[in-house]
Amino acid sequence: MKKSLVLTFTLVILWMENTGAEESDGFHFKARTKRQIQKTLTITTILEKPFAMLTESGELEGYCVDLLSELSQALEFNYTIYVVKDGRYGTKDQNGVWNGMVGEVIRKEADLAVAPLTITAVRENVISFTKPFLQTGISILLKKEASSEGSYLFGFLNPFSKELWIGIIISYVITSLCLFLVGRISPCEWAEPSNEQNQYTLLNSLWFGLGAFTLQGVEPQPKSVSARIIAIIWWLFSVTLLAAYIASFASYVNNSENQTPNIQTFEDLLKQNKIEFGTLANSSTFNFFKNSKNPTFRKIYEYMDKRKDRVLVKTFSDGVQRVRESNYAYLGEASSQDFVAAKHCDLVRAQEIIGGRGYGIAAELDSPLIRPLTIAILEQFETGNLEYLRQKWWENTCTATEEHASWVPVQPHTLGGIFLILGIGLALGLIVSCLELVCKSKNKADHQQVNLS
Ligand code: GLU
Repeated sequence: MKKSLVLTFTLVILWMENTGAEESDGFHFKARTKRQIQKTLTITTILEKPFAMLTESGELEGYCVDLLSELSQALEFNYTIYVVKDGRYGTKDQNGVWNGMVGEVIRKEADLAVAPLTITAVRENVISFTKPFLQTGISILLKKEASSEGSYLFGFLNPFSKELWIGIIISYVITSLCLFLVGRISPCEWAEPSNEQNQYTLLNSLWFGLGAFTLQGVEPQPKSVSARIIAIIWWLFSVTLLAAYIASFASYVNNSENQTPNIQTFEDLLKQNKIEFGTLANSSTFNFFKNSKNPTFRKIYEYMDKRKDRVLVKTFSDGVQRVRESNYAYLGEASSQDFVAAKHCDLVRAQEIIGGRGYGIAAELDSPLIRPLTIAILEQFETGNLEYLRQKWWENTCTATEEHASWVPVQPHTLGGIFLILGIGLALGLIVSCLELVCKSKNKADHQQVNLS
């Protein structure tokens, strides 16, 4: 009894200590951080849209600037921010010296690098990164194409899909055949009751069907109710098709200036030779292709390495300008490409994204700043603040054009109803023609009986 009382007491004390520790954790964490970040931190960044951009008044703004401000509030530290002196992210040169933001952090010229700096193994050897604040991958930035000459020559066929054109031709042939049949069955179409000659020969039936498409009433005009039913249904079908064709053709012509390019994957890029492609010189993207064992990516590296001086660009902005002004595709990080595609409506990012990677905040190797910064970044994730910042800086201003870009040829199912009505009309026409034949025969029989009697 005594033993169990002592055990319960000890457990209660332990529980109280633990709870107290948890509650004061946030406080301790902040206090620890404050102790560590007493001085004003020097932050290096790079001018890259929308991460850090210069305003007209010469100040910096962008996703990274906002993120830094949130982190400084959370961890209560002061900072000064400047743009990296050599304008580079950071690679090791031939002498083994690191340049760019990585170099500045190693040489302690900057305490932190807050920029779209990719976390890579080689960099992680010489500096420390926080957990990524943004995930991305490598994709292709392209210019939306004007239609090629070949497809433009026969562009008048594009408003309808291939299946729909086939459906229209089959409907035309079936309707003409029905008209031909009705001409033979219905006595009202015959020139004389005794003589089964009628105006709807096979050729005339085909001719009549075509006339409806030009909205010209074409001879021979139907005389029987059954042939009239077929003619009216066919005219209705033709008018609906014409309306759909004109509407689709108008939006096709508007859209043809801004076609989505045929290149959607890295394979597609290799299969063609019209568009040159390249990336940022000495970047993590270039190194990704250089170190890849995948045959497609190796071929891409070999292509870029052979034409180094021509296809590699110095800055992302240079790459974007080249894409807009010449036949050039820029291989780079999807997040930056999404931003330019959202602002410049003539640009588009390909669907395929490879080589998942993340951007982290960098500090000197094993810096005590990394842990508190990582925790603060995770908090920003969990409160939805990073998502808000992403939406704010990647806002799309090309919505109107995208509506056009989503244009597709009219498909058979869109006009399914009119095909159904045509089918019902043709069946009705045939039934009525049979009824006409039965009535006429009955009348004739009655007439002959009367004559005989
Ligand atoms: N974010 C990359 C880096 O840190 C630069 C851009 C790229 O590789 O495409 O090197």
